[in-house]
Amino acid sequence: MTLEITHLGSGSRGNSTLLSTEDTKVIVDCGFSLKQMEHRLALVGVEPSSIDAIIVTHHHGDHSKSASKASKKWNARLYSNLETCMRLGLQPISEVRTFEGLERLHISDNLSLLPVCVPHDDADNVAIIASNGEGKRAAIVTDLGEPTIELMKHLSGCEHISIEANYDLNKLISGPYPPSLKKRITGRGGHLSNEQAADILAEVLHPKLKSIVLCHLSEKNNAPHLAESEVLHQIGDNFQGVLSISRQEGPDFSNLLGQSDLEQIKSTI
Ligand SMILES: [Zn+2]
Ligand SMILES: [Zn+2]
Repeated sequence: MTLEITHLGSGSRGNSTLLSTEDTKVIVDCGFSLKQMEHRLALVGVEPSSIDAIIVTHHHGDHSKSASKASKKWNARLYSNLETCMRLGLQPISEVRTFEGLERLHISDNLSLLPVCVPHDDADNVAIIASNGEGKRAAIVTDLGEPTIELMKHLSGCEHISIEANYDLNKLISGPYPPSLKKRITGRGGHLSNEQAADILAEVLHPKLKSIVLCHLSEKNNAPHLAESEVLHQIGDNFQGVLSISRQEGPDFSNLLGQSDLEQIKSTI
């Protein structure tokens, strides 16, 4: 059973990822307008009404913008933890199926999701580990200041990892942001730098890791070539898979788990 991971777009102006198996489709974060979400789904040939569930990692607008509207219009079940549900002004049970950290969410027999709590300022954020029921696992990890032991444990079992590489430290330090914001971004509840993302990947690297996507790159404090070179420098020849970068203006490609090694990635353009 193939597990397909498609970033519909990623960055400070919106994040959304489509996870698909043959009969199940889940949206992780719905951080664009409803119109943009439907437009981006159309670009990959997906009918919005075929979405089974939407999971919101945390309440920040770049992850939650149209989640409630989309859930109602597309008749897709909305999932979040209780804090996120409350911060979005939504009703548990009637509007949102709430979950606890590490509670496995059974979406269908071939797609389940495991939310793993991660530190992020003023938000109860989770990373998502998706599993296709045949041992293929993919991680979506954004908006955290640093990894936790629990997260590292789960990442080491994943064949696909999408992880934020938010900023290049030198670019952030010399950039236009006020000192207080620079401090927040680099703090425990901020975002991962290129170097932190590279360290995490180097630590969890294993022979079965087939694909990595760097996402949530800051347009002001980062550049794709900086993120890519930092990660390649750290993981080096030990990584034999595909490294890609998700742009704000997606979708560009899909990663496929459960296919032959030659078919790990396909263009969506
Ligand atoms: Zn974000
Ligand atoms: Zn956030």
